[in-house]
Amino acid sequence: MPFGYKSMVSPFVIPIFIAHQGCPHQCLFCNQRSITGAAEGMVTAREVRETILGQLAWPRRHPEAPVQVAFYGGSFTGLTLARQRELLGAAQPFLAAGQVQELRLSTRPDYVTPEIAGFLRMQGVGIVELGAQSLDDRVLADSGRGHTAAQVRTAVACLKEAGIQVGLQLMLGLPGDCPATALAGGRRAAELEPDLVRLYPCLVVSGSPLAELYRQGRYQPLSLLRAVALAARLRAIFEAHRIPVVRMGLQPSASLEKAVLAGPYHPAFGELVLSRLFFKQVRAVLFARSSGQSHRLSLAKADESIYRGRGNGNVKRLTALGLLEGVETVFTPGQPRQSVVLTQVAS
Ligand code: SF4
Repeated sequence: MPFGYKSMVSPFVIPIFIAHQGCPHQCLFCNQRSITGAAEGMVTAREVRETILGQLAWPRRHPEAPVQVAFYGGSFTGLTLARQRELLGAAQPFLAAGQVQELRLSTRPDYVTPEIAGFLRMQGVGIVELGAQSLDDRVLADSGRGHTAAQVRTAVACLKEAGIQVGLQLMLGLPGDCPATALAGGRRAAELEPDLVRLYPCLVVSGSPLAELYRQGRYQPLSLLRAVALAARLRAIFEAHRIPVVRMGLQPSASLEKAVLAGPYHPAFGELVLSRLFFKQVRAVLFARSSGQSHRLSLAKADESIYRGRGNGNVKRLTALGLLEGVETVFTPGQPRQSVVLTQVAS
């Protein structure tokens, strides 16, 4: 079954970072400043307006795509109501003029109540991403999150009740976590039926409490191989529930690369996960073919790199398994992504 997620047209997102604003917590893994590269200043309504105007002025590849203004990087609903009004209010003229279709923001699960959800909806917020990180209370406590899994469930219910789409951000390899707990958490998260999911491997970034634990040998991050394998299994869980995983791995940036001290960072983390999943998909099809016959394996041209894998690793593994004997592989432009078509050809 194809595992890719395709929306009709991806929205054009105008990001506005509000680093650490509204958040009095200190999760062990977090140092927002080093991840976003943003200074801890107060984003003003004027800056929001200027950012939107600036982004709208650029020619867009898909002008028909809906425009979203996204407040990322902090716990938006932890801001005072006046600040929330100020920031969301700056986007209202663009919503009213039809230049922006929707607002989205991220926040903590314990900062969402029915009243807050109703207020956000009234302000044109269509999507709220919850930094859930885990659905396991012990992992949440060990990571210094300061909220429980029950609060994640309550927040999801409040947002859905208000008619707001819900995104869940989950982290792999947190302190106290293990693959079994992470997969159980993934299944619990899928049961909440979020509209989208993001998966991030836990990284050790400078200036975070986790960096100190790592230095003391009290925290060991996942290897890249294990993180990719775990992300692939989680993604498969969400795919089985038809929940799109819209991102795997943090957005690469110079400031992030400078800040990462250890952990499974890779600029193309998501591609590594897709490549692992695609390998399994192709392998299953090739295993099922009748032996002694010649076949043509047709894959989408756009999938050539995830089929091959890093260093042509997937092809080497399929060859070592003897699965490519008598198989001609072709990459077909226009073939649907992540589809595998095997046809018998005359010998
Ligand atoms: S709640 Fe979010 S912003 Fe606050 S410390 Fe934790 S990860 Fe960082």
